Amino acid sequence: MLAAVRTFVREQVIPREEEIEETDAIPEDLRRAARDMGLFGYALPEEYGGLGMSISEEVRLAFELGYASPAFRSMFGTSNGIAGQVLVNAGTREQKEAWLPRLASGEVVGAFALTEAEAGSDPSTLTTRAVKDGDEYVIDGAKRFITNAPEADVFMVFARTGGPGSRGISTFLVSGDAPGLKVGPPDAKMGQRGAHTAEVFFDGVRVPASAMVGPEGTGFRTAMASLAHGRLSIAAVCVGLAQRILDETVAYAKERTQGGRPIGEYQLIQALIADSQAELYAGRSMVLEAARAYDAGEDTKLGPSCAKYFCSEMVGRVADRAVQVFGGMGYMRGVPVERFYRDVRLFRIYEGTSQIQQLVIGRHLLR
Ligand SMILES: Cc1cc2nc3c(=O)[nH]c(=O)nc-3n(C[C@H](O)[C@H](O)[C@H](O)COP(=O)(O)OP(=O)(O)OC[C@H]3O[C@@H](n4cnc5c(N)ncnc54)[C@H](O)[C@@H]3O)c2cc1C
Repeated sequence: MLAAVRTFVREQVIPREEEIEETDAIPEDLRRAARDMGLFGYALPEEYGGLGMSISEEVRLAFELGYASPAFRSMFGTSNGIAGQVLVNAGTREQKEAWLPRLASGEVVGAFALTEAEAGSDPSTLTTRAVKDGDEYVIDGAKRFITNAPEADVFMVFARTGGPGSRGISTFLVSGDAPGLKVGPPDAKMGQRGAHTAEVFFDGVRVPASAMVGPEGTGFRTAMASLAHGRLSIAAVCVGLAQRILDETVAYAKERTQGGRPIGEYQLIQALIADSQAELYAGRSMVLEAARAYDAGEDTKLGPSCAKYFCSEMVGRVADRAVQVFGGMGYMRGVPVERFYRDVRLFRIYEGTSQIQQLVIGRHLLR
């Protein structure tokens, strides 16, 4: 699988990166090929049509997927990750049977709808409400920055069913075509073109009581479990992309000449490259160890936060040094490192900002 994905990413996806950037879309043939390779369900259980990878296997796959434009992985990352894991961890057998095989095959796309305008880093204050009415719930509210919202067929929606705080939140499965659900226009983002986010509005959206995922009041816990899994995947993608950026940097340093010599012969350029390589090595090692501990059930929280924090910051520094090595060319559109410089900025923000990872780590140690 790793070898097949490695070849596919390098031979099929990388040559299309500029097209993805210009059209802000993943070409249909790449989407089809990803489906055929099982990429929409690599982290979903085999009994529901996925490939059933452990986290240790998944991060190795993410190293390969991260080597190309992050929008490619984002297309199926949510179905495998934050959205799909909600069902894997908390769904009933009926809910899993209804959605997981179709998510795994790529027939449907999933989205994870937690963030709101006034509830980002602290989602425990979210105000979207789900009110019981007979054997239905009626959902009202709005979410924002929801990845895949424009193309999603099913949303994992976190809504308040009880009092304030994290214990008053429950999770609901909401079909994308539910009456009263509206998706706003795609957001105009800094980078990661080809991956889309949008606002999602719920105006009296009715779902059966059986659409609740997990017991009432456990939505916050469900969301956090999904995010911990997602943090390891994001960290691994950061490692893959850092490797790509470093490879681009080294190739340029060998070929670009100044003063009659390749710039790679200048020791200050070597220092930039060496710093990136050392940090990349540290990030890769950390992800592999955190994944091992996660699979062994030893640590599902501290490792993912440390890895996400370190690797998202690390890839930012690697991209920054790459632009420096490229000089003026690094500032020009059409040069991959310029695009990656914008793309990687997101990793420090979503699925918990760097500050939130610091808080998770600090609190965990002080408890
Ligand atoms: C492209 C993109 C895709 C996304 N996809 C999804 C998705 O699919 N589903 C979803 O639900 N959400 C998604 N998000 C939302 C994302 O998770 C949030 O943007 C993120 O959690 C930060 O929340 P915020 O934007 O409200 O920033 P804020 O929470 O307002 O944070 C602003 C700043 O304050 C800092 N801060 C906040 N609280 C504290 C604190 N207690 N201590 C110290 N510093 C603090 C933050 O670190 C940050 O620097 C996405 C966002 C983007 C940009």
